[in-house]
Amino acid sequence: MTAFLPYGRQTIEDDDIAAVAAALRDDFLTTGPGVARFEAAFAEAVGAPHAIACNSGTAALHLAAMSIGLGRGDTVVVPSLTFLATANAVRYVGAEVAFADVDPDTGLTGPEQVLDAAARATGPVKAVFPVHLNGQAADSRAIAAALSPEVALVEDACHALGAGLRGGDMLMRPIGNCADAAMTCFSLHPVKAVAMGEGGVVTTRDPALAERAMRLRNHGIDRDPAGFRNRDLGFAADGTPNPWYYEMAEPGFNLRAPDLLCALGLSQLGKLPRFISRRQALAALYDDRLAALMPVVKPVPRVAWSGHARHLYAVLIDFAAVGLDRAALMRTLRDRGIGSQVHYTPVHLQPYYTDRYGSLALPGAEAYYARCLSLPLFPTMADGDVDRVVEALADVVGLQA
Ligand SMILES: *Cc1c(COP(=O)(O)O)cnc(C)c1O
Repeated sequence: MTAFLPYGRQTIEDDDIAAVAAALRDDFLTTGPGVARFEAAFAEAVGAPHAIACNSGTAALHLAAMSIGLGRGDTVVVPSLTFLATANAVRYVGAEVAFADVDPDTGLTGPEQVLDAAARATGPVKAVFPVHLNGQAADSRAIAAALSPEVALVEDACHALGAGLRGGDMLMRPIGNCADAAMTCFSLHPVKAVAMGEGGVVTTRDPALAERAMRLRNHGIDRDPAGFRNRDLGFAADGTPNPWYYEMAEPGFNLRAPDLLCALGLSQLGKLPRFISRRQALAALYDDRLAALMPVVKPVPRVAWSGHARHLYAVLIDFAAVGLDRAALMRTLRDRGIGSQVHYTPVHLQPYYTDRYGSLALPGAEAYYARCLSLPLFPTMADGDVDRVVEALADVVGLQA
């Protein structure tokens, strides 16, 4: 019996385990020097001056929303075809979501859809949260160019560690370098490119945003005497800072990533290029094998402006032509030991958001959702696993692979 193939899974190797074991013997399980070591390596990997580690991708989005100063009365454009957390982070800070549509084939939002959403918004748009779906970049550069410079971009790059975006000079830049965005958010959940268990990172070029994000992930605590407003509490009579004192100017949260998990993140990060190239090789195999199933099963098309991190291998299926609905198809694949998943049910259809904003028609997001299915893709898959998936899929849709 061959092993069950999930749609995604982590790749943990002996040196990752050794790195975590070593971290367990260190003095600090959390708030130690291992956090900064991981952050420096992450910043380097994506070409950003600042990386702030936190305990999930959701926390990264929340930190970004707080750090750029979003709040009640503000509106933020979020594509509907994403994980719940992108929109929820906007609500955490009391701002309102204006859902943008996406391209029906790529699932990515673009300048046109963002401007449509902004035109529908009831309040002033303060920010846009583009999502780099499946590991392919939304065109942040074009989105930024279409907006007035006061509108901040926060990229949800939870799928896109290792992806790239072409700049004005046509050269590919790593997602996370914040060439076009105020901040970029990553997840290190086990199904993502590298694993921390739970973990996240937000990157930025702006030292003030970095400092605010660091404070907000730790209750809003400021330990730098230079910023103390309360002289009586902060300083002794001779003017030296009191060693126990810290100050809070705005409340933050505990969104910290522990050293224990940063050790895993650091070890995994060294493997990112290898993991991504294996994902790309498997995706190329899928492209090749699936050509026989066109146009009933069609891989999500590539866009010219993006380097693809291949987080998910998503296909668009013409279920009417197959004569089988998606649930039945997924169950049949599961019975053959093959996992699959739907990324995502459009967030504007969630009861919380329809209650809040009424029902909204976003035909691109709905057309993508109606056809999409993510097939197994993770670095330890064998080439033969791709054949197995494609053969099973061919069988189920009644074609020859
Ligand atoms: C995974 C993911 C998140 C949330 O990340 P967590 O680490 O699970 O909190 C947010 N947005 C997208 C697009 C994701 O895929």
